[in-house]
Amino acid sequence: MHHRVTLIPGDGIGPEVAQATQRVLEATGVQFQWDTAIIGDQAQHTFGTTLPQSALDSIKRNKVALKAPLTTPIGSGFRSVNVALRQTLDLYACLRPYKVYPGVQHAPYKDADIVVVRENTEDLYSGIEFAKDSPEAAQLLEFVFSTTGERIKEDSAVSLKVISQAASRRIVTFAFEYARQNNRRKVTAVHKANILKYSDGLFLDTARQVAEGYPDMEFTDIVVDALCMQLVRSPQQFDVLVLPNFYGDFISDLCAGLVGGLGLAPGANIGDNMAVFEPTHGSAPKYAGKNKANPMAMMLSGVMMLRYLGERDSADKLEKAIAEVIAEGKDVTYDLKPDPADSTAVGTSQVADAVIEKVKRG
Ligand code: NAD
Repeated sequence: MHHRVTLIPGDGIGPEVAQATQRVLEATGVQFQWDTAIIGDQAQHTFGTTLPQSALDSIKRNKVALKAPLTTPIGSGFRSVNVALRQTLDLYACLRPYKVYPGVQHAPYKDADIVVVRENTEDLYSGIEFAKDSPEAAQLLEFVFSTTGERIKEDSAVSLKVISQAASRRIVTFAFEYARQNNRRKVTAVHKANILKYSDGLFLDTARQVAEGYPDMEFTDIVVDALCMQLVRSPQQFDVLVLPNFYGDFISDLCAGLVGGLGLAPGANIGDNMAVFEPTHGSAPKYAGKNKANPMAMMLSGVMMLRYLGERDSADKLEKAIAEVIAEGKDVTYDLKPDPADSTAVGTSQVADAVIEKVKRG
């Protein structure tokens, strides 16, 4: 059986890690029909938009996409195409498993095993912002003063933090369902409800209500700053974390640090009947075209995609092959060497060669 999958090669190191991943996925024997779609910088040049309708149509048609990272210019008025993609397709759950593979040099703990479930559609990334000196910002400031008596400084820019009950319920339910289906024992809701009484307070209240429907599962909650300290000191106490969008963004990178770096951190953006698989890392422009980036985060995202497609045996085979290459420590990129300047580090395509050899040996 063929799986039709939309392939988004992305920007920067994207095309290199995407090609390496395509090769190892094909080596498992699973048949793919790749439907390449251009999003991001290159699409801006070709189609005059970073998110062409043809790419969205391809993902909607195939229901599954494998995506490399995209570059987002800072402060140019250009809002993240990643955020737009997740919101447009309502890929509301960002799922990121972090576990330490044996042999990883830069993991401070050998037994961290955490799944981050991040809400993907709202919070500070709702995209509702008011620029300094704009008439809309002036109106908003006036509205705030007339309703609360609080004066926001005139030279302010404002971004809205939006937390809805429906989106909170949906993401917490996703976290509990994932935990139950994957033999996890505990779900922890992350928030700052002590300060943000209405927005994070709503998230926490909703999480508590949803938890009542899962009496077989342990439920706890923690404020986000305490979580940062606890993750650094004893990550073993955490299992599944469920977070609003903004906290999920930086806690994901913290967890990537716990498992050996961004080169080993896979992910997926999942909706009710569609999913886009992509690594946590960005397009690392300084390494673009240099055959230097670690493709394993994208390969492990490919493993998650195989599981989503029902190809469990092939997923296990590919994950085992990647784990063996990591454990041997020979055919790995610079970031997995004890000293990143180690001249024995190999390139992106050589990692793919080594993984393919292990897959073929089985
Ligand atoms: P980044 O993740 O691209 O890179 C940060 C650093 O991490 C790199 O300089 C490199 O040292 C290391 N790194 C990242 N990926 C690696 C890999 N596969 N192998 C080895 N080392 C790796 O983050 P950034 O520099 O903040 O962002 C660059 C661009 O990527 C920005 O435009 C940002 O908006 C975008 N971005 C995109 C996504 C996405 O498409 N999902 C995610 C994050 C950032």
